[in-house]
Amino acid sequence: MTGVENHVSTERSRARAGNATETDARSGTRIDHWIGGRVDRGIDGNRAGTVYDPASGAAIAQVTFATAGDVDRAVSSAKAAFEEWGMSTLSRRTAVLFRFRELVSRAADELARTIVREHGKVLADARGEVQRALEVVEFACGIPQLIKGEFSENVSTNVDSYSIRQPLGVVAGITPFNFPIMVPMWMYPVAIAAGNCFVLKPSEKDPSVSMRVAALWQEAGLPDGVFNVVQGDRVAVERLLEHPDVAAVSFVGSTPIARHIYETGTKHGKRVQALGGAKNHMVVLPDADLELAADSAVNAGFGSAGQRCMAISVLVAVGDVADRLVPLIQDRIGALTTGDGMTPDSDMGPLVSRDQLERVKRFVAEGEAAGATVVTDGRDIRVSGRENGFFLGPCLFDHVRPDMSVYREEIFGPVLCVVRTDTYADAVKLVNDSPYANGVAVFTNDGGAARTFQNQIQVGMVGINVPIPVPMAYYSFGGWKDSLFGDAHVHGAEGVKFYTRGKVVTSRWPAPHLRGKNLGFPTVT
Ligand code: NAD
Repeated sequence: MTGVENHVSTERSRARAGNATETDARSGTRIDHWIGGRVDRGIDGNRAGTVYDPASGAAIAQVTFATAGDVDRAVSSAKAAFEEWGMSTLSRRTAVLFRFRELVSRAADELARTIVREHGKVLADARGEVQRALEVVEFACGIPQLIKGEFSENVSTNVDSYSIRQPLGVVAGITPFNFPIMVPMWMYPVAIAAGNCFVLKPSEKDPSVSMRVAALWQEAGLPDGVFNVVQGDRVAVERLLEHPDVAAVSFVGSTPIARHIYETGTKHGKRVQALGGAKNHMVVLPDADLELAADSAVNAGFGSAGQRCMAISVLVAVGDVADRLVPLIQDRIGALTTGDGMTPDSDMGPLVSRDQLERVKRFVAEGEAAGATVVTDGRDIRVSGRENGFFLGPCLFDHVRPDMSVYREEIFGPVLCVVRTDTYADAVKLVNDSPYANGVAVFTNDGGAARTFQNQIQVGMVGINVPIPVPMAYYSFGGWKDSLFGDAHVHGAEGVKFYTRGKVVTSRWPAPHLRGKNLGFPTVT
């Protein structure tokens, strides 16, 4: 057997270990860590959480929670792997990335089903998530082009100057439940392509898909230790934030935790990007195509049961638009089917947990008590055969005021609030006064109005007649204000910059006539 064949067969047997992990999750046993290229039970196997199938409400697995010691082992493994991976050639890295892209693409349906089982979103939505995740891998395949430096010949006599970008070392990602494959893939394909080694702490609510991805990385030929997964809760997060060998932390989640991650990580000398929560507005001007606006409000408001950071949660109806638009939205909501994400005719699945279901219902009750008009009430929904699932039907409020909790707080559920404003200027002020600034959309047929809006609005991602303006992988994703702490957005050029450090080299190959004493500050000669 040649060295290459030997390597491949070892990879195959290791990949089988990854499949075994996925089977464990399915059969309701245990989901562990992935450290140093293998499934790892952890030092103290007693710390664990329960993973649920949100559609049935049943507990389907236990997920091991890492101790600080487990995190230390994952970081050590990544640090050891960095010695080789950080120096690996660009062609080797891209070869691994291209293989990984093919493997993820081939496994897309299986990955999507794993997501549905633990998250609850409908299968078509999960497939879309895998597709958007793959786009970041494809972007990262271009790393030789993305990481190029600059070169200036003869900046002084016989002196050249050039810039290079180098990896940071060990970097960590801490991710939310709502996109269990896409959000982590905003991070690690770029980080790994740039030569870093990665420790991922996925959400404890839907941890299985990351274990499957770890096995796929291995099958693609990524050396052991370059990609690690530690499962768990805040214990794992706190250790990552203070660990001296972690150079950078990428976080995506709710605003209070994002703020904490940013403050703690930077206090420990790390580079941090922490993407937080959102309250995305969709402004509809009187001249808009209202059929398109109604479709968009329903799709972006209730897709994934409103559990998207780019979901539309507030519709700002300018002038008399609401009188015409609200009935169109109400009709469309009436045609939606809420059910098990695996059932083909379901448009909307359950919420991720019973706690989240109760929390969202509380918000709906508060909105009603505060005097908002309940146009559609999804609270009494029953899904046949899934009576214990975490279901809430779509809820639509009209006449919502900015002082109400349904307006102020991020609900993260299938609740759409209509706020009426008299003028365009009132609508812009409303959006700009929000502490959140992730995404926003304007619906109008007036190009000049759209351009003015794009210029005036204080939000990181803007859609013009597009309700969920998620940038493609070759642009960077991120909000402003309390929706992002730190300077760098994820993926695209900012992602590459975040995971690399610049260095400028000034070089002279001495010629005999340049020797001699000169204690002055270097100047151009
Ligand atoms: P979350 O903040 O509860 O959890 C995110 C991660 O932080 C998880 O890995 C979790 O284990 C960890 N965590 C939770 N509490 C912690 C604590 N006290 N200390 C340390 N770590 C902790 O978020 P979630 O409920 O999983 O996800 C939903 C949130 O994520 C929403 O607020 C949503 O807007 C946000 N989100 C934002 C974006 C974005 O791009 N801005 C994208 C996706 C999700």
